[in-house]
Order: sequence, then structure tokens, then C-alpha cells
Amino acid sequence: IRKAGILEMIPVTERMEDIGGLKNLKEWLGRKAVILKDMAGARSYGVELPKGVLIAGVPGCGKSLNAKASAQLFEVPLLKLDMGRLMGKYVGESEANLRQAISLAEAISPCVLWVDELEKAFAGIGGTGGGAEVTTRLFGQFLTWMQEKKSAVFVVATANDIMKLPPELMRKGRFDEIFYVKLPAPGEREKIFEIHIRKRRPGDLERIDIKTLVNKTEGYSGADIEGVVKDGIENAFVQGRPCISTSDILEAIEATHSLNEVMKDDIE
Ligand code: ATP
Repeated sequence: IRKAGILEMIPVTERMEDIGGLKNLKEWLGRKAVILKDMAGARSYGVELPKGVLIAGVPGCGKSLNAKASAQLFEVPLLKLDMGRLMGKYVGESEANLRQAISLAEAISPCVLWVDELEKAFAGIGGTGGGAEVTTRLFGQFLTWMQEKKSAVFVVATANDIMKLPPELMRKGRFDEIFYVKLPAPGEREKIFEIHIRKRRPGDLERIDIKTLVNKTEGYSGADIEGVVKDGIENAFVQGRPCISTSDILEAIEATHSLNEVMKDDIE
């Protein structure tokens, strides 16, 4: 299962402090961390083990980041399940693969099991034809496992398009909670700028007028913000300056605007 790339152990360096915004999600994960770090205590107190969380929303806004950082927070290994690779050539192979992946995760538990792009895995369920039937069976298998799960395998499922997810998945008893991440609000963009500038140029942070950058980046995702910070730093380096300034990042922001214009012209 691991050789076939179906289940992969991922090294984690991301921490909760590396995530700007998403306060509710981070707080919620923080509560689950208390339980997962003292499972025996929680059980004897009458608290149930968490099953997992579904994080949906626009690309580049920290879904994968949260999946990774949650393993750090819980102090457990991170396993990534590649649903696309589960599909086998022979009858029953896909189901057997999922069964094996689940038992391996349970053997390794406590752990975080990250299921990325959940909507792709279960696209076409309920349909007819060989592929669709296998997917429907896999989906049923996954749901039953989630519902009956008693092990300390905390599932973090991520999805871009919640509308494409089968509604059964949203019912109580499967995931403990569903979070929808949106594009960052101004205060969140401020934090994300800070995080990415501090990561690369800590000494320059106080020189940067983050409020101005925030005002120029409405509609930017976390990944977009990281992109303009990287480009801004590159601008300063290429021009031979010893430190970066607000205008280097503004220049990078302008460049993304003009790139968008060019793309729009092409489409029109
Ligand atoms: P996708 O659906 O495209 O996989 P995603 O929501 O999973 O998107 P991430 O992989 O978490 O997006 O984000 C991509 C990169 O953008 C991250 O590695 C991180 O550097 C940056 N980023 C995104 N959101 C945030 C955030 N809230 N705080 C800090 N950095 C962020």
C-alpha cells in the first residue's frame, strides 16, 4: 500500500503559527488536540474521540496547510491517502486497497489521515458502469468506516468544491465538523503577509507597510500573497538592494494585476 503510493507518510514542518487567519478552525483543532493528547483521560471522563474534519473552500487558502499543521499540533504522524491511486484493475482490488490502507492507518494510530481532493475521489458516485459502481462501493466503505470508527485516526478531508460532494458525507456521525474556508479578509491578509515576510526576511518586517499591501490585495488567496512576497524579495535582490521595501512587494502586486489584464485580453 505504501509502495504503490496509496498511503504515504508525509514529513511535517508546518505549524499552526504559520497559518494566518482561520481562527475558528484553528481553535477547534486546538480543542481536539487536548483530547488526542490525553485519550485515556478523555475516555474515562466520558469525552468521545474525535473522528475528523472536512475542510472545503477556494484553492490556496490554507486547507492543505491545516491538514499538515494539525499533525504537528496533535504530535502524531501524518499519512496522506491518495484516493485516485486506490483504483485497481481487478474486481474487488480497489476495496481491498482501501481496507488495507485503513488497517495500516489504524496500526500506526494515533495519526492524522489526510484525504485530499475528496470531491474527485467520489465524483460520479451513484452512477452506472464499472467505474462508477466501484466508486460507489468505495464511498460506502469509507462512510461506514467513518461512522463506526473508534480508533485514533483523525481524518482531515480537504475539498475545493463542496457542491460536488455527496450529501451523505455531510450528515452527522461522519465528520465532527465541516469548515468552509474563504478568501482571507483584510485582517487575515495582514497576518499572512506578516508570516511570509517574517519567514524569509525577518529583519525587514518592521520596514514594510503591511496595511498598504493589504489594501492592494483584495481577492488574493494566501497562496497569492505568498507569491507576491516571494516576487517582491526577488525584485529587491535582483536590483542589488540590501533589504526589501514596501515598493518591492507593491511592484510584484502590480505585476500580478497586469498579468491578469493580459489574460483577460487574451480571453476577450
Ligand atoms: P489547494 O486546494 O490548491 O490545494 P489549499 O487551500 O490546500 O489549496 P494550501 O496548500 O494550504 O492551499 O496553500 C498553499 C500555500 O499558500 C501554503 O503552503 C502557504 O504557504 C500559503 N497559504 C495559504 N493560505 C495561507 C494562510 N492562511 N496563512 C499562511 N499561508 C497561507
